[in-house]
Amino acid sequence: MTIDYDRLYLAGQWTEPATEHRIDVHSASTEELLGAVPEAAEADVDDAVAAARRAFDDPAGWSRWEPHQRADVLERFAVALEKRAQETARRVTVQNGMPISLAQQFEGGFPPVLLRYFSELVTCSPQEETRPGMLGGSSRVIREPVGVVAAVVPWNVPQAITFLKLAPALAAGCTVVLKPAPETVLDAMLMAEAAAEAELPAGVLSVVPGGRELGAYLIAHPGVDKVSFTGSTAAGRAIAETCGRLLRPVTLELGGKSAAIVLDDANLSETIESFFAATLLNNGQICWLGTRVLAPRSRYGEVVDAVTDLARSLAIGDPLAETTQVGPLVSARQRDRVESYIAKGRGEGARVTTGGGRPAGLDRGWFVEPTVFADVDNQHTIAQEEIFGPVLSVIPYGDEDEAVAIANASEYGLGGSVWTADPDRGESVARRVESGTIGVNAYANDPTAPFGGIKSSGIGRELGPEGLHSYQVFKTIYLDPSKG
Ligand code: NAD
Repeated sequence: MTIDYDRLYLAGQWTEPATEHRIDVHSASTEELLGAVPEAAEADVDDAVAAARRAFDDPAGWSRWEPHQRADVLERFAVALEKRAQETARRVTVQNGMPISLAQQFEGGFPPVLLRYFSELVTCSPQEETRPGMLGGSSRVIREPVGVVAAVVPWNVPQAITFLKLAPALAAGCTVVLKPAPETVLDAMLMAEAAAEAELPAGVLSVVPGGRELGAYLIAHPGVDKVSFTGSTAAGRAIAETCGRLLRPVTLELGGKSAAIVLDDANLSETIESFFAATLLNNGQICWLGTRVLAPRSRYGEVVDAVTDLARSLAIGDPLAETTQVGPLVSARQRDRVESYIAKGRGEGARVTTGGGRPAGLDRGWFVEPTVFADVDNQHTIAQEEIFGPVLSVIPYGDEDEAVAIANASEYGLGGSVWTADPDRGESVARRVESGTIGVNAYANDPTAPFGGIKSSGIGRELGPEGLHSYQVFKTIYLDPSKG
């Protein structure tokens, strides 16, 4: 049975779409049709933005409510999402191949946590302060919501990434028009059902399914005040150019090619589960994964063997099975892209120690074997470009300085990790790596700490108070000095 929608969630209503165009969604593991949703047209985006504008500008509306009033609505939204958590996880898994155990955690579990975290942050931290000035008077410094937000998200972790944006934006008092990726629109529609059940006020949230042209139309729309984008660096550059021309604030979470630095005292077998999570999670389809494994020359063979054994040991197959650790890639296009990188790696002289092909016995679905390359030079294409699949490159280094230099010799700077028996040493190496985030003997995005990249990995931060502040603008009122 397919999942089909015939209406769009626009401005709090299930609305007849402007055209009859539809987006088909296919299963990553069986290639079968899973369902279809209306494709939003520019006219639908116009309606969504106009409604978001009206809702934001309403002097008695969402943006002017007390934080606790918005928190009450967002709590209802969190509860409605929790009711759908299993189905959300299932839809994501069948669409993009994310192993179900991970989808339950990231896609079913994380969105309500983020809604509650940001609601509490806005409710419990002061949103304005009075500062004694240096000129005799004082100033009131107020945080106000930035306005109508255009949020554009990718397919790899669709719900968690959506709520990295929705939760702080809505809690701050913004209104949002969300454009999900066409590969994963079925979970976005389920999220819209939760929003409808929670009775978000009209115009506070709309969902416009569509491709990159529609995304480009949305982010340049005259009614939008702020853009929040997660996706490829190439698209990020195009969006940054548009936002630059419009002088429109933009948060960009883009690609990565992070380093997992194994120090000479590391005991990888003790931390192998965390190492897996930091390097190969979600079939390699996460931006912050440490896909360049840097290994000391003194223990190079040993590290290559450990990483090879890990990749070989992974349970690959039906992503709906609880025991599966590696599922298929999202699409035939993505599999072709990953396979072309594997061919490039071979062509440039790197050595495949495991994988390199399609797994035996899985004839349907866009599967690629977990693949490890040894003897990789950091200049190789597979060490410089983001592959976005289960492919690791093990690169040798001499001393710690060289490890840091190799880690930093990248266009990107998003994630990374250091593996060591000595956490202090790990932290001192982590401090030297040019990256927005990095872990010691683990990597996980904690909601309380800012996440984001430097260099070609992006601009701005999500999560933590910093993530909230990107949906706020400061207003200063210089108070009447005679009344001081
Ligand atoms: P993509 O850039 O092709 O598409 C992402 C989203 O943007 C989709 O919704 C797409 O329709 C839309 N889009 C594409 N071009 C656009 C444009 N010019 N204007 C407006 N919208 C546009 O990326 P993808 O292949 O779907 O996703 C994978 C990429 O996302 C990888 O590079 C990955 O590293 C990155 N990513 C980054 C983070 C992060 O937080 N830094 C998280 C997840 C994924």
